[in-house]
Amino acid sequence: MSNKRDYYEVLGVEKNAEQTQIKKAYRKVAMKYHPDRNPDDKSAEEKFKEAAEAYEVLSDEQKRARYDRFGHAGVQGSGGFSGGNVNMDDIFSQFGDIFGDFFGGGAAGGGRRRQPGGRRGSNLKVRVKLNLQEVAEGVQKKIKIKKYVKCQPCTGTGAKDGTAFSTCGTCNGQGQVRRVQQTFVGMMQTTATCPNCKGSGKAITQSCSSCKAEGRVFGEETVAIDVPAGVHEGVRLSMSGRGNAGEKGGPSGDLLIEIEEKQHEYLHRDGNDVIFPLHISFADAALGTSVEVPTIAGKAKIKIPAGTQSGKVFRLKGKGLPSLNSYGVGDQLIETRIWTPKSLTDKERKLLEQLRDSDNFQPGAQEGGKGFFSKFFGG
Ligand SMILES: [Zn+2]
Ligand SMILES: [Zn+2]
Repeated sequence: MSNKRDYYEVLGVEKNAEQTQIKKAYRKVAMKYHPDRNPDDKSAEEKFKEAAEAYEVLSDEQKRARYDRFGHAGVQGSGGFSGGNVNMDDIFSQFGDIFGDFFGGGAAGGGRRRQPGGRRGSNLKVRVKLNLQEVAEGVQKKIKIKKYVKCQPCTGTGAKDGTAFSTCGTCNGQGQVRRVQQTFVGMMQTTATCPNCKGSGKAITQSCSSCKAEGRVFGEETVAIDVPAGVHEGVRLSMSGRGNAGEKGGPSGDLLIEIEEKQHEYLHRDGNDVIFPLHISFADAALGTSVEVPTIAGKAKIKIPAGTQSGKVFRLKGKGLPSLNSYGVGDQLIETRIWTPKSLTDKERKLLEQLRDSDNFQPGAQEGGKGFFSKFFGG
């Protein structure tokens, strides 16, 4: 992947090409290297994928702008084909409309080479709620999911005992049918999935009674979801093949997992840091003390030195949350707030009145401006 060609060069368009030109250029390249026209030609397949990657970026104005500014580095890891592995089926499912016109295929994106067998199961979505400790350490969550599962008696085939088949008469067991079509580039012979057996080459002679030949039944499965440390609200994880089972042995859909965060009783999350607002008395702030504070994992004791100001932040290094995609751990920040009594006894009032005019009790006294504030506020 190191020597990637320029995307504009791949499609043969100018840097300032308009979307219609880009689409047209992509069609041309994709048609030339289409796997149905270049069977078993690895280099054609590579070119076909390269074109899909280029088109994916250049057809998206945002990605294109990033690519124009930063080159390939700007669009790597942004998901899609530019993220790394290009899967042929993804190309057909995403850009199926591009091929549809030419291959006159069915509704589900013409030109797509279907997997033999039945239809793919749909994706499933679940939400997983985590507390801060689970976020900090990562966790395995076992979740019971109601979904379509493979029918056991027929092993998902839909045929009685999984064996009641004969050879498909439409394709003679090939799973594919050939047809010749007139297209704008001339006569083209294409192969398509057999409409009768959907590519399996077999026809069911007796249906499975458990699933009525569907190959799947509604049931439930307990799925163990490994949640990595450092996730946050809204992060999506996916487990391929753990969604609904496909029909008649088709591939399963994916399980999509959305992360939710439970609020901690005392700690607020700020990125990878956690924040704890600590209220201390005026006396503790002036005299110094030590207090116990809650942390993600339990408790920690911290020293409040004499003369601590309200708003002072103490940092517990490494007591925050790990990063999801990189090294490093956040901190716990303890924000000190001086708590002022709301009512006083006569004795307390007298003591405070005695202290009120003392030099050390004037804000700013230590910063050199004795009576600095009293000048303005008449204290
Ligand atoms: Zn067939
Ligand atoms: Zn069955």
